[in-house]
Amino acid sequence: MLSVAGVHSYYSKAHILDDLGFDIAEGEVVALLGRNGAGKTTTLKSIMQLVVPRRGSVVFRGHDLVGLPPYRVAKHGLGYVPEDRRIFSDLTVTENLEVGRQPERPGAPTWTVDQLFAIFPNLAERRTNRGKHLSGGEQQMLTIARTLMGNPELLLLDEPSEGIAPVIVEQMAETIRALKSQGLTVLLSEQNLHFARAVADRAIIIEGGQKKFDGSFEALSQQPEIRDAYLSV
Ligand code: ATP
Repeated sequence: MLSVAGVHSYYSKAHILDDLGFDIAEGEVVALLGRNGAGKTTTLKSIMQLVVPRRGSVVFRGHDLVGLPPYRVAKHGLGYVPEDRRIFSDLTVTENLEVGRQPERPGAPTWTVDQLFAIFPNLAERRTNRGKHLSGGEQQMLTIARTLMGNPELLLLDEPSEGIAPVIVEQMAETIRALKSQGLTVLLSEQNLHFARAVADRAIIIEGGQKKFDGSFEALSQQPEIRDAYLSV
């Protein structure tokens, strides 16, 4: 579904992604792991074209996305949930979802507000509350749900477990598993190996913008030296 190959990305002169490449198959949930500053956010932004790679390709269903404006990337079927929560604080939960509504896309799961409330029961309970009155975890859930209203085929989630209470982290894991069971493909960045293992089929580890590991969590557990070298666990 997605093929990232030979990607080099920069912030002015700072060379951040260094020949990064990986593939994601339809229906997979893949965790992009690495320490603070490893380049996880830059990888997601380089897929979304919020950072335009200077070299390499990002091919989604046969279309090279490099250089497209991010709104066109979204139209191809990619949804991006940044680490900071982007909700409308004066709109209610339901109104926040409605502003995310996009036309149906053949081949992608199509979401209605009611279907999302079934997957995000906390949001259903708070449907008439304004965004600013939600907890951090609920705001994170609302950002994901609103992105799903765009009916993406591939969801990019930047550190979904970051900065939310442990009980909500468990709900977040359940939510991601529910999205997978609906056929959604997900690439999520994570520092939390435990969370990644609970939701993802595969791990990609990066450090210094280079790929250091790509494989199953079983394979990773048999190589503790990789975990010790590149993850803070
Ligand atoms: P984190 O968990 O801290 O978000 P990360 O793995 O997502 O880490 P990135 O945010 O992709 O890492 O950052 C990779 C490198 O790029 C870091 O060295 C960071 O300081 C640098 N960087 C990030 N954003 C910018 C920017 N706008 N301008 C210059 N350098 C940046």
